[in-house]
Amino acid sequence: MTVRTIQHRIGGKETAGTSRRTAPVWNPATGEHQAEVLLAEPEDVDAAVLAAAAALPGWADTSVMRRSRLMFAFRNLVEKNLDELVRMVSSEHGKVLDDARGEVIRGLEVIDFACGIPQLLKGEYSDQVSTDVDLFSFRQPLGVCAGITPFNFPALVGMWMHPIAIATGNTFVLKPSERDPSASNFVAELYAEAGLPDGVFNVVHGDKVAVDAILDHPQIAGVSFVGSTPIAQYVHERATANGKRVQALGGAKNHAVVLPDADLDSAADHLIAAAYGSSGQRCMAISVALAVGDAAEPLVERVREKAQAVKVGPGHEPAAEMGPVVTREALERITGYIASGVEAGAELVVDGRRPDVLGNGYFVGPTLFDHVTPEMEVYRDEIFGPVLVVVRVDSLQDAIGLINANRWANGTAIFTSSGRAARVFQRSVQVGMVGINVPIPVPMAFYSFGGWKDSLFGDHHVHGPEGIAFYTRAKAVTTRWPEPDEPRGNLSFPTAV
Ligand code: NAD
Repeated sequence: MTVRTIQHRIGGKETAGTSRRTAPVWNPATGEHQAEVLLAEPEDVDAAVLAAAAALPGWADTSVMRRSRLMFAFRNLVEKNLDELVRMVSSEHGKVLDDARGEVIRGLEVIDFACGIPQLLKGEYSDQVSTDVDLFSFRQPLGVCAGITPFNFPALVGMWMHPIAIATGNTFVLKPSERDPSASNFVAELYAEAGLPDGVFNVVHGDKVAVDAILDHPQIAGVSFVGSTPIAQYVHERATANGKRVQALGGAKNHAVVLPDADLDSAADHLIAAAYGSSGQRCMAISVALAVGDAAEPLVERVREKAQAVKVGPGHEPAAEMGPVVTREALERITGYIASGVEAGAELVVDGRRPDVLGNGYFVGPTLFDHVTPEMEVYRDEIFGPVLVVVRVDSLQDAIGLINANRWANGTAIFTSSGRAARVFQRSVQVGMVGINVPIPVPMAFYSFGGWKDSLFGDHHVHGPEGIAFYTRAKAVTTRWPEPDEPRGNLSFPTAV
């Protein structure tokens, strides 16, 4: 049986370009081979960049009000087609429909933010900074920008980038994950339907070959990357060496601290949601619970009960709370980590291997380890699956010490009823996004999203004010309209008079 081929979208048209290589796209819930996605060659990336470069002058010159109206039209189309996008995300990624809906709605919120671009691009003006001299500043687009995105949010992560880049007057080339590529083509169709000129938004599918062609392309001015830490670091190094502006968001190992004074039922519910939602395949998933003092025994007992009750099944089944992981390789990696935890001497409280689901899907159930220590692989590595490890610590200070010693610093949370403990935590923890009794503290679209340390390479977080800053350059203009007979300046460095 032949399967459908997913093509690139360049200059407003679907095309295979020069691509001959392909990669399989699986249905993780069934193991079915749903499609083949083309893998771009450097020539295909070049074609997309040329289309974006050709569209750039016209788009950068389009009035900010028209760009805003376009974003409103795009926003309405995404909302109208929400169910279709949700279905696509779930079928290629595997996440349950409600979770996929949450993803697309969070993406929609970034588009909402981009609709306000006239307000966001307002510049500054200072009258009479020197006698008869005025000064103003405004922001202009960077140029052709590229986005390289991971598999775990096939619609959302692109939406962190392209609505802001396009609203600020740039043109864009998106290289989505080759594991779940369809949502990006659908987004391109919706942009076209909204009236976006051809070439402003392009999609090239591919692997390292396409990524390297982006990082080296002389006509790309800015690169936004989201994915694992080693690739984020590589992308940052190679693209900055080529003179590009780069923001590269990497992996994570997010810790939640549970103090004995917390509402432990509520904390356990939140831990379950944050550790096992999307099968733990979120960069903001909680993968370590730091149980402080007497919190440990009752917490582990509650999480055990709730983890065993999570309903695992295909994402499209309404009763399912947790779907499969993305590929067979991911399944093998995760079960390998579970074996390594057992071997290292951690206590396997809930074993998610071989869950009770029929068929050939890539399922692994909620897994819980207790008595984990910081030397163990299950603590040190990003597992990116439904595995929660509990580390028992004596004090809040010990918990903060462990978090601050970790190489990753994307998100963290504390569960407590003490405002004082929460304040100490929020001030001293060295992490980009912090939750107080909120397990997944993903900021709203009008704030910026990003971690610290090995969770981010580059200076800018995504969306919100930092997204606007990333996709634009500031220009400052100093003006004077002299009388014809005014004396000219002298050779000294000018100062205000
Ligand atoms: P990944 O790093 O394997 O892939 C990300 C992108 O890089 C994909 O488009 C892929 O095609 C490309 N790529 C893969 N290998 C490459 C190579 N050798 N050279 C050049 N490009 C390459 O990540 P993934 O498995 O798709 O996604 C999961 C990872 O992303 C996790 O580590 C997760 O924490 C991270 N993530 C981080 C954030 C964040 O905001 N910090 C958000 C989502 C996901």
